[in-house]
Amino acid sequence: MEKELLLMLPGPVPMPEQVRLAMSRQAINHRSTEFGAVYADCVRVLKTAFGTTNDLFVISGSGTAGMEAAVANFGRDKEIACIVNGKFGERLFKISQRYGRAHEIGSPWGTPVDLEALEGRLEQGAEIVTLVHNETSAGIKNPAEEIGKLAKKHDALFLMDAITSVGGDVVEADAWGADVVITGSQKCLAAPAGLAAVSVSNRAWERLCKNPPYYLDLAAYRKSASGKPMETPYTPAVPLFLALREACLILEEEGLAARIARHQKLAKATRAAAEAWGVSLFPKIDAKHEYSTTVTAFAYPDGIKDDVMRAIVKKLGILIAGGQDQLKGKIFRIGSMGAVSPPEILSTLAATQYALNKLGHKMKGDGVGAACEVLG
Ligand SMILES: *Cc1c(COP(=O)(O)O)cnc(C)c1O
Repeated sequence: MEKELLLMLPGPVPMPEQVRLAMSRQAINHRSTEFGAVYADCVRVLKTAFGTTNDLFVISGSGTAGMEAAVANFGRDKEIACIVNGKFGERLFKISQRYGRAHEIGSPWGTPVDLEALEGRLEQGAEIVTLVHNETSAGIKNPAEEIGKLAKKHDALFLMDAITSVGGDVVEADAWGADVVITGSQKCLAAPAGLAAVSVSNRAWERLCKNPPYYLDLAAYRKSASGKPMETPYTPAVPLFLALREACLILEEEGLAARIARHQKLAKATRAAAEAWGVSLFPKIDAKHEYSTTVTAFAYPDGIKDDVMRAIVKKLGILIAGGQDQLKGKIFRIGSMGAVSPPEILSTLAATQYALNKLGHKMKGDGVGAACEVLG
């Protein structure tokens, strides 16, 4: 077996032991009060992390299954305005193209979203707005609350991917008017990959499409979840639900506010290291945008090769992420989501500092020391 690496990626992330052990149990029947209680625990905790009292379901499938469920149930044959400033915004646009009449509201990856273009598209009758709250590919946090207001003003549904913010950053689905919100299990929740959660507002239910998909039919999820015991329409990925329940109980025990504060501090420490190194952060933010609280994207200094840099870090036992698609070779990313604490982030920054140094980057100062100042 290969040596276990410390995954400092924007998902998947290391899982606490309690979460891993939950998956080693004997099979249980999913039509049982025992499973119903597991599902109910997940839903209860996830609702707090979503900031919602709306219906919420857990789907067997990765985050993208949740994105597709959202678009396929509410966007079929509709005019959809898709905000794109990174890879996952683009994914929501591509999914929307399959089901409705999708219009890209684009800006270069990692730059502020084009609110004027969005407003223009809403004036032309867009019925749905899609947004990625925390654009993982670029390390930028988009102004969800403001976009929720625009959607409401024009009576459009607001569909939000909160896959790397739920459980790691402030998400207020109800206060922001986010009608359909999605998260994934292997990101800030520190659960295994393979589950998605989707919340649905009453306003969205009123606009449910008439020809839903079969496996991802959210009305079927609603019907099954309303029974006693709570169920899913088809056999769920039971071992993953058992693990997600443990991850949710850990979140509940830590407390959402404390968990968010921990994430904020870790991201701040990571940014302090960048500043000390003299390495630029990749996103170009303005007053309405912020750097991500769960993943930090760095622009490569001139002359530093991505594969070489990350190979040095990997040799030290730590996996950090490169860029995706058009950002390949241009950026690297350090995830600080899930169960991460100062020892993991400090060793990651130390290995990264070593690699940058070794490859000839002229350090302004001590990044690890700067991170310690934030964390200490
Ligand atoms: C990871 C991620 C996804 C995709 O989730 P999968 O679990 O890989 O299907 C979607 N959106 C964002 C913002 C992500 O970070």
